[in-house]
Amino acid sequence: MINKKMEQLGKVRSVIRELFEYGKKRKAEIGEDKVFDFSLGNPSVPAPDCVNETIKELLDTQSPLDLHGYTSAQGDAGVRKAIADYLNENHGSAFTADSIYMTVGAAASLTISLNALCNEGDEVIAFAPFFPEYRVFTEGAGATFKALPPTEDFQIDPVALSAAINKNTKAVILNSPNNPSGVVITEAGVKALTDVLKEKSAEYGKPIYLITDEPYRELVYGDVFVPFLTNYYDNTLVCYSFSKSLSIPGERIGYIAVNPKMGNAGDVYAAVCGAGRALGYVCAPSIFQRVAAACLGQTADVSVYKHNRDLIYGALCEYGYTCVKPDGAFYLFVKAMEEDASAFCEKAKAKELLLVPADSFGCPGYVRISYCVSTKQIEDSLPAFKALAEEYNK
Ligand code: PLP
Repeated sequence: MINKKMEQLGKVRSVIRELFEYGKKRKAEIGEDKVFDFSLGNPSVPAPDCVNETIKELLDTQSPLDLHGYTSAQGDAGVRKAIADYLNENHGSAFTADSIYMTVGAAASLTISLNALCNEGDEVIAFAPFFPEYRVFTEGAGATFKALPPTEDFQIDPVALSAAINKNTKAVILNSPNNPSGVVITEAGVKALTDVLKEKSAEYGKPIYLITDEPYRELVYGDVFVPFLTNYYDNTLVCYSFSKSLSIPGERIGYIAVNPKMGNAGDVYAAVCGAGRALGYVCAPSIFQRVAAACLGQTADVSVYKHNRDLIYGALCEYGYTCVKPDGAFYLFVKAMEEDASAFCEKAKAKELLLVPADSFGCPGYVRISYCVSTKQIEDSLPAFKALAEEYNK
């Protein structure tokens, strides 16, 4: 018998993918511009020039054998040093090349970190709303996934966290700026969270690790401070990805930064290398390791997302929707106008608005709108959003 769990994962698409596939079919039937697809978090702003320029330069100047060959399993040493230096300069951290492990994006950063840390019977906690794949990744690492309910402002509830931690808790996953809420956890929230982790680690006499999932780190609007977690908590693994910041999600490049300040940093880094090996990653893409290093500190034009955010948030609030104001990422989290978010999304679908019900994000009653689309799509969709609200307010 084959692995039934894997068979099930392969057969049942995520709600987001299901909707995206529906959107493609619907566009073929009635026309591209008639369907307002807000399902996927695929960047809509082109990569900054440094991406293509670096690729061209590498092709023109490097030996093909070198460029297309395997790198060290943990990533090219020069690339890892460049990332460590960049992080230290910007966040006052103390990483070295040997704290950094290159991955194929945030998803791999997470699966490797979870496999590196977890044993059978361990528990991993995340805060709702959460990226639905956390459950898949955690269970794939042999651990149990535990979700904490959302708070009213989508920040951290330290009391609930404290109550949820037990002797089996191995790690807590934090995602800020958050997919799907767009919320950035405040410094006070981070301090409250890390205070609980310190207290509970002492109580159980073992480290409870913090895994920070940060693909949206640079996607923040206005004067918003995004705390860098290793400055608050020693037992932190930073899971980063260039997918969103450089608009290169298909190229699959990211890294794990293991905080050298944690007591057993060398062992944890070795376990990260071991998990990468056991999962068969071999090494991250060679060209894109170099591209990432050359483009550190650069991003796609984030002002486009800010413009989209202002436009859709402003309009939907005006039409009577209850929206969470997103300070970062490129998602708007909206309260469904009836209890069942899926039923609400079906009514939206009838107006060609493709919205994602947030049940699988651990947040029933809400929907996610990905505003990483063209500004024109948002403008054209507004009458449909208005009509949908009017249908409920009749
Ligand atoms: N974590 C979160 C919160 C995400 O939103 C995503 C992608 O949308 C990922 C991880 C996976 O990112 P990557 O494409 O870099 O694997």
